[in-house]
Amino acid sequence: MKIGTGIYLEKLNQNPDFYQEAYTCLELQDFVMPNNLDENRDSLIDQYTTVLKNYKGLLTIHGPYIDLHPTSFDPLVRDVCVQRYRQALGAAKALNAKFMVVHSNYENITHYAGYETYFLQESISFWKNLIKEFEASKVTAVIENIHNKNAHLIRSIIDAVDSPYLAACLDTGHAHALGKSQLITWVESYGQHLQYIHLHDNNGEQDQHLPLGEGTIDFQVFFAKLKEIQYDSVMICEIFGEIESQQKNLKQLEILMKQQ
Ligand SMILES: [Zn+2]
Repeated sequence: MKIGTGIYLEKLNQNPDFYQEAYTCLELQDFVMPNNLDENRDSLIDQYTTVLKNYKGLLTIHGPYIDLHPTSFDPLVRDVCVQRYRQALGAAKALNAKFMVVHSNYENITHYAGYETYFLQESISFWKNLIKEFEASKVTAVIENIHNKNAHLIRSIIDAVDSPYLAACLDTGHAHALGKSQLITWVESYGQHLQYIHLHDNNGEQDQHLPLGEGTIDFQVFFAKLKEIQYDSVMICEIFGEIESQQKNLKQLEILMKQQ
């Protein structure tokens, strides 16, 4: 299993040795921001290439999502999303990153009849068109749950697109606070399509990105389930805070994994 952290260049540069030694995977999150896909992109790639020149771990990136709507009614709006994903994919390729996290565009406030069917069809059509570019670049897109209530729609998109380069990212904090649902059910629903995990804790009400054990998620049950399915892919700690919180979180993670 690859244990990683979400990071951005400024933070990495503050303590490059710590991050490279503590983690076997780094998820570069700068490419979320539009200006980092436009004027800053090449400079970021150069700087990461320099600072990580001796890093032996796996690199992944978090893709853009701000104002992006892959399932919009408006083809021009969908096209902006394609263009931004393409720019991020270019960055992933240049950095030899193997995964790109993308957000599910599912809105849980939209309750008109037929919304879920519409969302599913539009997501499938969007990914059937774009996935070829991910396949050509050998980068796996992983769809992350945000407001999703369960794994059903994301799983159905992955099944329908049917590419080894489209999989699921389970965000534990989002499932707990925003989806209000049991983590082990998500793991069971995704099965082998689960290739990526965002790991953080919260109180079940807010998306707090706390270190493990500081919120109300039952991680013992979660890790037991991961062991049962022999999960062996990427696990990214997505907690806020500096080195101290990172170390505390890693210690907690180690205890949880040993208990299994
Ligand atoms: Zn996340």
